[in-house]
Amino acid sequence: MSDNRFLLPDSAVPEQWYNIQADMKTLPPPPLHPVTREPVGPEALAPIFPMELIQQEMTRERWIPIPDPVRDILRLWRPTPLVRARRLEQALDTPAHIYYKNEGISPAGSHKANTAVAQVYYNKKEGTRRISTETGAGQWGSALSMACNFFGLECKVYMVKVSYHQKPYRRSLMQLWGANVTASPSEETAAGRAVLAKDPDSPGSLGMAISEAVEDAVSRDDTKYSLGSVLNHVLLHQTVIGLEAQKQFELADDYPDVVIGCAGGGSNFAGLAFPFVKEKLAGRKLRIVAVEPTACPTLTRGVFSYDFGDVAQMTPLLAMYTLGHDFVPSGIHAGGLRYHGMASLVSQLYKDELIEARAYAQNPVFAAAELFAKTEGVVPAPETAHAVRAAIDEALRCKEAGRRETIVFNFSGHGHFDLTAYDAYLAGKLEDLEYPEEKLQESLQSLKAL
Ligand SMILES: *Cc1c(COP(=O)(O)O)cnc(C)c1O
Repeated sequence: MSDNRFLLPDSAVPEQWYNIQADMKTLPPPPLHPVTREPVGPEALAPIFPMELIQQEMTRERWIPIPDPVRDILRLWRPTPLVRARRLEQALDTPAHIYYKNEGISPAGSHKANTAVAQVYYNKKEGTRRISTETGAGQWGSALSMACNFFGLECKVYMVKVSYHQKPYRRSLMQLWGANVTASPSEETAAGRAVLAKDPDSPGSLGMAISEAVEDAVSRDDTKYSLGSVLNHVLLHQTVIGLEAQKQFELADDYPDVVIGCAGGGSNFAGLAFPFVKEKLAGRKLRIVAVEPTACPTLTRGVFSYDFGDVAQMTPLLAMYTLGHDFVPSGIHAGGLRYHGMASLVSQLYKDELIEARAYAQNPVFAAAELFAKTEGVVPAPETAHAVRAAIDEALRCKEAGRRETIVFNFSGHGHFDLTAYDAYLAGKLEDLEYPEEKLQESLQSLKAL
């Protein structure tokens, strides 16, 4: 009998994060101050982030030590298994080997717990008592609530309104871990009130919720803000995924030809991919694919430009692929993929053609998730299902070409809180949404390509 699961002991939780900024030939242009448009120094970010995270944002040090209290908590569920999806391979009748790295086994249900624990630790170390944040589908909010609970900090979550109503149990989970949750846009902040004045029925967006959470943090002394994706330090914390996977491929005596991750802000994709990008930069041949929804096609249809991270234009300007900071994607079920921008580091790698990108509509994505659940038993989050779709299509390409390639994808989270989305899929009620070209051009108008 051959092994399906490649497991590492608790003690193999990585001792260092991998910082891709040490190895990139071209670094993305630096973040700019929202008003002066000068590069922002560490002091400009100090009101919202602890210093150690700001330093991680900017450092070009290749390896960053993971503090022991962070590793202690990560060991509650890490290392996560690397699993060979043999029953999926058989169902597809493909010569390809398909593996997935199962981040869905974290207590909060996704990869987001990896950075939540690290961020709360550094906040606690520097005296923060309360953390504000936004959440889309609720995964980031749950991960941060859990981490705040472990370290004894208060947690305030602005949750995108469409998800607040679609995913009530995510809210319960956050509340169970002690967080205070508000639907965004809300009446509690000036940014929220401004949106509601224009559009009382606004479904909300991550960009709006970020404005509310940032405003909350800057208006209180005891509070800092925390972001679950996009920023360099978040991507850094996720690299435990790829570093573990590399060891696990040694156990499996295999190595990927194709590395796949779904991409909202880019953090789970980066977490698996960056350690492999390092190998690619060193000359190894492999393909790396980011997968996004057609309803929010940041890499495949956006422009590489300076743009704000939020609707109210409070964040620094980041150089990234973007659809425009006032882009409001339709209410697709993969809420975690509804962000207008893409991490600078991921954007630069895409611009430099070190990684590829593709976009899928909802129905083919859910069909892939259904096949995965029926063959492997595990129900993917709608976001994750984008990566499943791409892995299946790569495996079908291998079948057609008669090639035995190895494919790995990041199983970023389970879908146990997303069953209303599966209900809609099973009832044939999911729409395949393309973002209309005129509306896209409207959002892109004010952006200058870099
Ligand atoms: C948040 C989330 C994503 C998208 O965010 P990234 O930063 O792009 O990883 C993907 N999958 C799951 C399960 C998520 O919770």
